[in-house]
Amino acid sequence: MDKSQGVSRVLISEEQIEAEIASMAAELDAEYQDETPLVICVLRGAVPFMADLVKAMSVPVEMDFMAISSYGNSTKSSGVVRILKDLDEEIENRRLIVVEDIVDSGLTLQYLLGHLGRRGPKDIRVVAMVKKEKPDAIAVQVDRIGFVVPDEFVVGYGLDYRGQYRNLPYIGVLDPSVYADVDDPVDETEY
Ligand code: 5GP
Repeated sequence: MDKSQGVSRVLISEEQIEAEIASMAAELDAEYQDETPLVICVLRGAVPFMADLVKAMSVPVEMDFMAISSYGNSTKSSGVVRILKDLDEEIENRRLIVVEDIVDSGLTLQYLLGHLGRRGPKDIRVVAMVKKEKPDAIAVQVDRIGFVVPDEFVVGYGLDYRGQYRNLPYIGVLDPSVYADVDDPVDETEY
């Protein structure tokens, strides 16, 4: 089976992602001159984005990882998340760059920012590859967004459906026939 099977259309091409990352990296280089920010990756969806972003940056960085999962089994993102793997580094007085794959309702990010903020970092910058165009999304801090996408279920470049599609080099729309048997495909994804 081909890894793109089930993708109905490409929304953001590999070339567009590459160009956007180059411009994000240039902005971050300017912001963190003579500093070593700690880049925090939320596993697993943000892995390709983080890897490409840090390679495009010129300033030195350190990297750390968190793994989280949605709490309980409600059908909608409750914003209460369980930490499966916490950071290894101390973040007090550090400058943090939180790298996110997708901001949908914004609840996960809001929780994460609260969690990190209580540990006294110097500041936090949030960089998201994708933000969904969603009128009812909560107002949460996102300092830099790569692409705004329509409120459809997207996969690729780290984003999964039932664990698959993460290794597509582009972001595409998953054909609804692939998840015809489920109410909400977002519930079937893993961070
Ligand atoms: P939130 O609604 O809290 O902003 O997003 C929660 C999580 O839902 C995201 O981190 C991501 O794992 C998942 N998610 C939301 N929308 C999509 C989507 O269109 N595609 C995929 N693959 N995951 C999504």
